[in-house]
Amino acid sequence: MQPKQIVILGSTGSIGTQALEVVRAFPDKLDVFAISGNSNVDLLTRQALEFEPPYVVATTKSAYQTLSAALESTGSTVLFGQEGLCDVAVMAEVDVVLAALVGFAGLRSTLAALEEGKVVAVANKEALVAAGHLVEDILLRRGGRVVPVDSEHSAIHQCLVGEPQNSVESIILTASGGPFRDRPIEKFSSIRIEDALAHPNWSMGSKISIDSATMMNKGLEVIEAHWLFHLPPEKIDVVVHRQSIIHSMVNFVDGSTKAQLGVPDMKVPIQYALSYPNRWASANARLDWSTIPTLDFEPIDNQRFPCLGLAYEALRQGGSLPAVLNAANEYAVSAFLQGAIHYTAIPSVIEQAMLRHDIVRSPSLDDLIEIDTWARSISEQKRQGTH
Ligand code: NDP
Ligand code: MG
Repeated sequence: MQPKQIVILGSTGSIGTQALEVVRAFPDKLDVFAISGNSNVDLLTRQALEFEPPYVVATTKSAYQTLSAALESTGSTVLFGQEGLCDVAVMAEVDVVLAALVGFAGLRSTLAALEEGKVVAVANKEALVAAGHLVEDILLRRGGRVVPVDSEHSAIHQCLVGEPQNSVESIILTASGGPFRDRPIEKFSSIRIEDALAHPNWSMGSKISIDSATMMNKGLEVIEAHWLFHLPPEKIDVVVHRQSIIHSMVNFVDGSTKAQLGVPDMKVPIQYALSYPNRWASANARLDWSTIPTLDFEPIDNQRFPCLGLAYEALRQGGSLPAVLNAANEYAVSAFLQGAIHYTAIPSVIEQAMLRHDIVRSPSLDDLIEIDTWARSISEQKRQGTH
């Protein structure tokens, strides 16, 4: 069989670099057709020289200029910006697009790939959160497919193989609880950036690491699960499971529960998304069951993690509100990482933006782009105290 031609959007990130490790492990099954990076031009250049993809996309002007010079005498064509991302995502040769950009910036290329009927392996949860209804609509019209990469959604996807939709009673997303699961709430005011970045179980990009600390990551995952598995919010539960061994579970109408378990290693769900519907034998680490005496579960502490409640609220009200939640969160996380706001201000920035928004029922892509910009600017005004 010919190797699958894959496009990795966001190849310089945590998911992107792990996806390239999967490609290295399966050179006869996977071929890199295109890669993209934003600011890390050195890594993007090294990746281009190693994998020799026909296309490389740079999304900043300076990266584009540096890369064009560095790859001049190679067979790789360098493209620029959002247009470049969309161009490579729809090319006829492409079998799978891995959407591994972070944030709303990943939306246009995901929609473009689906509009072309491609298989899109989605790590970029923010696109589904902001525009799940558009994704659903395109899938119905164009017949492409979305395969989840996020470990929880990959787990549920695996539990659902061979199960009809009406056999599902509910799903349970597991959450590690992040770095602040035991920190007394009165000590949240002394949280530093490096404390919030230090996740106990996973090594990830900075934005999702902060989202994991606030539990907004789980909130975004609840909304992502709603669109992927067609379940209402009351059928999507979250439980704290500190060991991150059970990646998520499905409850069925006959009282059975299925779970998917494994070491916390994103290469496993990335590989499954690329190999689906097959499984490929890999050398990834295995669990040693004799060293795991217990699996622990705890309810979510809503006072500790107000962001999760905001995400459920956005999903319940629907329309454009999840896009506002997402944009205000992206703004707040970036402001926190720059030292401009305190950790404890993150949920209040998001809540304020949600309260000020007049929900648009079925927003178009243009509406969403406008709403995203509005939510960031209202959040910035709130930070500056000018509103
Ligand atoms: P990273 O921050 O590590 O990587 C993000 C990638 O997107 C990089 O290639 C980066 O380029 C690129 N990028 C950043 N901003 C832009 C932009 N404005 N335009 C175009 N490209 C951009 O993130 P992760 O890999 O951690 O996460 C990627 C996505 O996967 C997120 O949506 C996250 O929620 C999700 N995810 C991640 C998991 C993980 O373990 N990391 C687990 C489950 C889901 P550059 O680095 O060159 O600037
Ligand atoms: Mg996850």
